[in-house]
Amino acid sequence: NRQWRLTERPTGEPTADNFELTDDPIPEPGPKEVLVRTEYLSVDPYMRGRMRDSQSYADPWPVGEPMRARAVGTVVESNHAAFEPGDTVLGNLYWAEYAVVDGTDLETVDTGTAPVSTALHVLGMPGRTAYVGTVDIGEVEPGDTVVVSAAAGAVGSVAGQIARIAGCRVVGITGRDEKADWLTDDLGFDAAINYRTTDDLSAAVADACSRGVDLYFENVGGEVTDAVMDHLVDHSRVAVCGKIALYNAENGDDRLRGPRRLHQRTRTRVEGFIVSDHADRFDHINARLRRWVEEDRLQYRETVTDGIENASDAFLGLFDGTNIGKQLVRIDAD
Ligand code: NDP
Repeated sequence: NRQWRLTERPTGEPTADNFELTDDPIPEPGPKEVLVRTEYLSVDPYMRGRMRDSQSYADPWPVGEPMRARAVGTVVESNHAAFEPGDTVLGNLYWAEYAVVDGTDLETVDTGTAPVSTALHVLGMPGRTAYVGTVDIGEVEPGDTVVVSAAAGAVGSVAGQIARIAGCRVVGITGRDEKADWLTDDLGFDAAINYRTTDDLSAAVADACSRGVDLYFENVGGEVTDAVMDHLVDHSRVAVCGKIALYNAENGDDRLRGPRRLHQRTRTRVEGFIVSDHADRFDHINARLRRWVEEDRLQYRETVTDGIENASDAFLGLFDGTNIGKQLVRIDAD
């Protein structure tokens, strides 16, 4: 059972040296436990927080131990009444080929209408995050102008499309022309800005948002966010979903100053949120997302890295923008 362990906590940018791949015996399930063979593993930006030794909404990963991840897999052996071999399940597994988990922590995946991997993005946690941020926190209204950062990622690409469905003008900010083209040509975004190649980002946002910005779906922080803040209108909202540009910053880093350009005159409401706090909404949200996917109103894309041995590279790639849509690792264990 090849699995990844955290070997040390990084300072600044994480590197391949922070992880090690070990080969251990396949674990045996105990009472009420289930042995699952991983098919798709999700690597996510919040995992950078789990590499730190500080308390957050997700516990720090212990050094030396296998690291956990949301994953979809197939039941190999079950001592839990709700599951039998061959079932496709979703759960908090490990960066590993096989995992033993308590059956009560597993969910059955609907294999009917969409590929099972979508349970890790558009029909899973990132999709729900996108919905909570735009609808519940962002309170989008038809006619609003919505700006989304990390717009071609798992959360951002869904958030922008939900805002489009709600009747908004949607502008995406991303770091590659190929991603910008995907947003405008395939997902129906009204405009897209490449923050890496645009000299004056604030002017580009002004250009794309002639009536200002009603909702900023914040995934990034730093200079991208400063540029959007310049254009918030009266009673605008900022849904603070994440700040990936700051995740590798250490205390005292200049990037952590801010928000530098938030003015009281616009009466902007800035609200951070954590998707797991909104579990009472999940049945409703899941039904909405699934319907939109079935109706072809919600598109998705995956960047799939093959092989457990490449999982750490897939994770590190999130910080370079390697992924378009959801970054997954596909595992084909014997
Ligand atoms: P993504 O699929 O969006 O992948 C991360 C993307 O972020 C990269 O592809 C890259 O795209 C962009 N990025 C990386 N570094 C930078 C940088 N320095 N400056 C600007 N952009 C950068 O990941 P997710 O969709 O999983 O997550 C998106 C955000 O949502 C994250 O901030 C994450 O922490 C947050 N999140 C929050 C949740 C909550 O409950 N609040 C739940 C889930 C996610 P590009 O090429 O465009 O730069």
